[in-house]
Amino acid sequence: MPSAELLSEAQRLMTICNACRYCEGYCAVFPAMELRTKFDAEDTVYLANLCHNCRGCYYACQYAPPHEFGVNVPQTLSALRLDSYRDFAWPHVLAGLFRRNGLALGLISLASLGLIVALVLGWQDASVVFSSHTGPGAFYEVIPYRLMVVPALVLSGLIVLALGIGLARFWRAIGGRWRELADLPALARGGWDALRLTYLGGGGHGCNYPDAGFSQHRKWLHHLTFYGFGLDLLATSTAAVYHHVFAWEAPYPYTSLPVVLGTVGGLGLLVGPAGLLWLKWRSDPLPAAESVWGMDVGFLVLLFLTSLSGLVLLAARETAAMGSLLVIHLGFVAGLFITFPYGKFVHAVYRYAALVRYAQEGKEHPDSLPGTGAA
Ligand code: SF4
Ligand code: SF4
Repeated sequence: MPSAELLSEAQRLMTICNACRYCEGYCAVFPAMELRTKFDAEDTVYLANLCHNCRGCYYACQYAPPHEFGVNVPQTLSALRLDSYRDFAWPHVLAGLFRRNGLALGLISLASLGLIVALVLGWQDASVVFSSHTGPGAFYEVIPYRLMVVPALVLSGLIVLALGIGLARFWRAIGGRWRELADLPALARGGWDALRLTYLGGGGHGCNYPDAGFSQHRKWLHHLTFYGFGLDLLATSTAAVYHHVFAWEAPYPYTSLPVVLGTVGGLGLLVGPAGLLWLKWRSDPLPAAESVWGMDVGFLVLLFLTSLSGLVLLAARETAAMGSLLVIHLGFVAGLFITFPYGKFVHAVYRYAALVRYAQEGKEHPDSLPGTGAA
């Protein structure tokens, strides 16, 4: 649960905002807040994870610093979100990775890369790694298929377990009941709002990021990142079908479905994180908690390097550099996936759950939360 100091600040702000209500049309946070008269730890965690840090309420607020009330809703909610990521992490002993998250991500990625290099060089003669391989099965001449797939499957299972336990803890903490997880209209409505980034659009004008001006840049760069990642996952799944159903071995032709999907997704995952890093560099630091900076930057850098290494591997796969590029790319992929439950990625899971909860509250209070009922 949040620290007493943070909880007290969130309660103070929500009490002021609940009296003011100027921002009630900006996002889901304010209508959900107005349903409440008191704010306990569970409420603040829920509201914090509904916030998209669009910053509209900060720049519109007549009580924002330097006013003596010092109302800074996005800053307090971003600090609360980070606290919630720590609180619901599983196993809890790894929650400390959220403290200096950028450094943790960097060290875990380097360790992953080192482990893969050691495994490959322990398994193969170095000359195999540094010589040219072409045609079907070329990748597996450098790293045998089982050595590549079995650890990936074990890792994926652990990641899904950690994210699932975190989600269950979060859901219970915000007052959700298990049977409500089967509420299909609310799941669909939450999914629709998450996929469209409904609350990052500023009602059509855009969010106030990186500065007080309205801009859609952050929303579109987030879309490029999210859908680029989705296309890369689809490419990997398609390649698995090619391998197991049709017995076609990678690398596949440049015009094949896995390569086209992976290339388009990879470009999205290159431009999106690079653009978001550029915006973050220029952004006003006041409406965000200082403690989230390393986590945000570390995650974007890791996404960018994973995509870049994949695209360079694609371009150079018929040269003698293929083996070392494959090892480097898998090192970044492993670092990214290992840190999914202990970094910025968890915001996707908790925000979606908060949006589902919001849709459920909308069905109970259709007059207070219009447009949130049936999907
Ligand atoms: S952020 Fe400021 S303007 Fe908006 S509701 Fe709160 S007190 Fe009012
Ligand atoms: S920063 Fe944006 S999403 Fe967050 S509470 Fe303010 S208006 Fe809502």
